[in-house]
Amino acid sequence: MTQPGDRSPTKLLLLGGTSEARALAKLLHPDVELISSLAGRVPDPALPVGPVRIGGFGGVDGLRAYLQDNEITAVVDATHPFAATITANAARACAGLHLPHLVLARPAWTPGDAMVVADDWQAAQTVKDRGYQRVFLTTGRSGTAAFRSSDAWFLIRAVTPPDADMLPPNHEILLSRGPYDYDNELALLREHHIDALVTKNSGGSMTRAKLDAAAALNIPVIMVDRPALPDGVTTVGTVSEAETWVRQR
Ligand code: NAP
Repeated sequence: MTQPGDRSPTKLLLLGGTSEARALAKLLHPDVELISSLAGRVPDPALPVGPVRIGGFGGVDGLRAYLQDNEITAVVDATHPFAATITANAARACAGLHLPHLVLARPAWTPGDAMVVADDWQAAQTVKDRGYQRVFLTTGRSGTAAFRSSDAWFLIRAVTPPDADMLPPNHEILLSRGPYDYDNELALLREHHIDALVTKNSGGSMTRAKLDAAAALNIPVIMVDRPALPDGVTTVGTVSEAETWVRQR
């Protein structure tokens, strides 16, 4: 049990931007010394408890320097499963410095009948090949570029608006942040006469209702597969497993 005046031997960098990262910070703070890190993409981010830094590190070299300068002793990467660049950078920086490093990757959704594609460009090609006309596009701000030259109409849901030159000509933008519930997703699909859903395989419960609503309406789903994790990283799927890993340091 922690006594007054005891000092945590761990100084954790928690790479975040997800609900799991916020939940983990809440479980660990204040008895484990930690700093949460956000990319700074969203103007009004949901903040975790405890200290937070915001902004990129400047690639793998910048991250390595940050870890050394701040005497970080362990890193938990709880970034989104599609945040592949920071995940690769963290794996490389930690390996180079021999720092304990854990990836908290929420379990992927089971694709079921979904058409699984490797990236946004394949998703756009599938929309074209299948002749879908009214597409619910939920791959986020950076996911619209691949659909720029599509003739279909898109309902684009994102947290922050995509750049105007990255948008298909026919679209409506819906700015919102999860979680989403089944009844509202069902109503949205009906109201907009959606004939296909494009989603990342983000996993988790906060955004899964759209899959259930699409299934109920027999709307086909195009699911972008997750990028692979770096080789050899230690991975857990739940916040409580990540907490255990940190507390065992
Ligand atoms: P990314 O492509 O993997 O990273 C691009 C760059 O952003 C990284 O090289 C790094 O810049 C910076 N960065 C990313 N995450 C960071 C973090 N937690 N702290 C400090 N710098 C970070 O990442 P992304 O897909 O753009 O995602 C950015 C953030 O949004 C992440 O925190 C992620 O958890 C969250 N998010 C992403 C998605 C998604 O679908 N991709 C969805 C929900 C939330 P430097 O190279 O300069 O260090």
